[in-house]
Amino acid sequence: MKYVTLNNGVQMPLLGFGVYQIPPEQTERAVTEALAAGYRLLDTAAAYGNEEAVGRALAAGGVPREELFVTTKLWVQDRPAQDNARRAFERSLTRLGLDHVDLYLMHQPYGDVHGQWRAMEELHREGLARAIGVANFHPDRLVDLDINNEITPAVDQIETHPFFQRTADHAFMRERGVQLQSWGGFAEGRNGLFSNPLLSGIGARHGRSVAQVVLRWLVQRDIVAIPKSVRADRMAENIDVFGFELTDDEMTAVAGLDTGASLFFDHRDPVMAERLGGVRVDT
Ligand code: NAP
Repeated sequence: MKYVTLNNGVQMPLLGFGVYQIPPEQTERAVTEALAAGYRLLDTAAAYGNEEAVGRALAAGGVPREELFVTTKLWVQDRPAQDNARRAFERSLTRLGLDHVDLYLMHQPYGDVHGQWRAMEELHREGLARAIGVANFHPDRLVDLDINNEITPAVDQIETHPFFQRTADHAFMRERGVQLQSWGGFAEGRNGLFSNPLLSGIGARHGRSVAQVVLRWLVQRDIVAIPKSVRADRMAENIDVFGFELTDDEMTAVAGLDTGASLFFDHRDPVMAERLGGVRVDT
C-alpha cells in the first residue's frame, strides 16, 4: 500500500474501502472481507447507519489498531453546534468501539460550519481525531473555513471520477495543503462508466479491468480513493492497482472524459442546501 502524508504529518493510505449504501446487516461481513483483502482505510459516517457494524468487524478482524485508518463523519448539527458536534462524535466513537478515529470529516458544508469545526479542532487537540477535514466543500467554503479558524482541513472528500475530474479544485487544494479524497470514484457506475470504450481499451492494453484503470488514474494523481463493493472478488480487484502504470498519453486521454459537472448534485444548489442541510441524523 502507498501512503500520502497529510498536512499535520499523519500518514493516510492512498486507497481504502467505503461503506456508503452497504446495509448495516451486510456491513460486518463486507468490512471483514475488506480487511482480509488488505484494506486498512475504512470510510464510514454517522449518516450511513453502519458504524456499529464497522466497529464489530474491526474488533473481530485482528488487525492491530495502529495499522488501521478509520474515518467517520459528522452530520449537520443543530445549534449550539459546538456542543452538539462533540456529542455526535462521542456517539460515533462508542458505536465504532474505538478510543480515537484517524480522520473525522465534516460531512456537508451546511449549518454552523464554524461551530462544528471548532468542536472538531478541540477533538483533534485532545487526540481523539488524529486528523480533521471536510467533505463536499468547494474552494470558496474551504478558504472561508481556513482563514477563520486555526486548523487547516487535512482532507476534502469530494465527488471525483473520470466524468467530473476536479482538476482546478485539486490544484487549489494542493496549494493550500489539503489532500483531495475522491468519493464516488466509479461515479457509482453512472454514465456507463464500467463499459466506457476508452477506459475498456486502456484496460485491455494492460490486462486490467475498467475499475482498475479508474482507480489507477486516481491514485496516479495522488488522489485518495475509497471504492465500495459488497463483493469479495471486486474488493480484491480494486485494491490491486499498484502493479501497473498508465502512460502520459493514457492519462491525457482519460482527461478528455471530464464533463466538468457533477453526476449527482452540486452542493452549491440552494434547493439541496435547504433540503440536505435540514436533514438530521442520530439526534
Ligand atoms: P463508487 O465506489 O463510485 O461505486 C460503487 C459501485 O460500483 C457499487 O455499485 C459497486 O457494486 C460497484 N463496483 C465496485 N467495484 C466494482 C468493480 N470492480 N467492477 C464493477 N462494479 C464495481 O460509489 P460510492 O460508494 O458512492 O463511493 C465510494 C465511497 O465514497 C462510499 O462508500 C463512501 O465511503 C464515500 N462517499 C462519500 C460521500 C460524501 O458525501 N462524503 C458521498 C458518497 C460516497 P457492488 O457493491 O455490487 O460491487
